[in-house]
Amino acid sequence: MKPIPYGRQEITASDIQAVTSVLTSDYLTQGPNIKAFEDAFAAYIGAKYAVAVSNGTAALHLAAMAAGVKPGDRVITTPITFAASANCVRYCGGEVVFADIDPDTFLLDINKVRALLEQHPRNTFQGIIPVDFAGYPVDMEAFRTLADEYGMWIIEDACHAPGAWFTDSKGVRQMAGNGVYADLAIYSFHPVKHIAAGEGGMITTNDETLYKKLLTLRTHGITKNQNDFSNSLEMATGVPGMETGTFPGWYMEMQDLGFNYRLTDFQAALGLSQLQRADEGLMRRVEIARVYDQAFQHNDKIECQQLQLKERDLEHAYHLYVIKLADRLGLYNYLKEKNIYAQVHYFPTHLMPYYRQQGWKPGDFPLAEKYYSQCLSLPMFPSLTEKEQTFVIDQINQFLTSK
Ligand SMILES: *Cc1c(COP(=O)(O)O)cnc(C)c1O
Repeated sequence: MKPIPYGRQEITASDIQAVTSVLTSDYLTQGPNIKAFEDAFAAYIGAKYAVAVSNGTAALHLAAMAAGVKPGDRVITTPITFAASANCVRYCGGEVVFADIDPDTFLLDINKVRALLEQHPRNTFQGIIPVDFAGYPVDMEAFRTLADEYGMWIIEDACHAPGAWFTDSKGVRQMAGNGVYADLAIYSFHPVKHIAAGEGGMITTNDETLYKKLLTLRTHGITKNQNDFSNSLEMATGVPGMETGTFPGWYMEMQDLGFNYRLTDFQAALGLSQLQRADEGLMRRVEIARVYDQAFQHNDKIECQQLQLKERDLEHAYHLYVIKLADRLGLYNYLKEKNIYAQVHYFPTHLMPYYRQQGWKPGDFPLAEKYYSQCLSLPMFPSLTEKEQTFVIDQINQFLTSK
């Protein structure tokens, strides 16, 4: 049996065709595939606007800038996520404040966030970054209600959840990141994520002002739109006294301190090609999850992520299939010997040395820390074969009965 990783991309002949055709076209960056990918992605998620950027971390950074994070702002997020969810606040000079997770869903616990808000004077916190961890869609409607009570913005880190949805209180299916409840949402196209583009990221929003801001921030804060220019025609043309006429074609203005966070056109072509298979991939992930569910449901040594949006429906996107067990290290090593490379998501961000320097310490979030000591992500990717999955499950059962 060849090595089985926890996640793996799949590249088809049409993906290769899509990329190579861009290589011989006129545009290697910011060509027609960028807009095509953005439009198709926005349509897939059900958001009005999408902005493609160089990776998910850049997407978080620009989303935090567009949300207006500034030095002294305080933003709440979960400790159980990839560190970038928190780091984007630091890039803008803000403070990260963590709140503990729900031990059953492994998501940021809204009741912990509410308690934090109630314990502090109003306007202490400016925003919340909930994460659709493992692909489990956050009940964003509930977070919106809470954020509105306190005048806060929401950035949804939906990197794990393209295609996931939850049902809101009106019975409407809301796709993760569709911009109905969160102000901004972000995605990553790293090879382990649902849609692989090598590197790549996307920001979605329904807010036109935020959208326009993101477009300029992606490319140095430069605008070429004549209606937005603030300098005079005289300055732009270099012609003394010139007051009427049009701005010359070369002229552009840098109005904000932006970045070069552009995606290349061939990455966009790969993303667009992969997006065509997104539904298929998601269905396969759900199928794999059901097989794991069945295998572990009567096993009292294993706990799975509990799907509990009260009586309402949801679709989990299964970026990860996480189990919890007492001897996590033992199982990890046992599987590794059998060429099965399970992974751990995540070491709590507040315990990373960088965040410990900011004053966070062991014991701050007991549920997140307990979760970390037991969690293991099993192989989960569309091309995992039935035979491979059966092998994984058999090895887990053997390990557990040998103890
Ligand atoms: C992958 C990921 C990111 C960062 O995306 P990159 O494209 O690797 O920069 C951010 N948040 C979460 C939850 C992720 O899984």
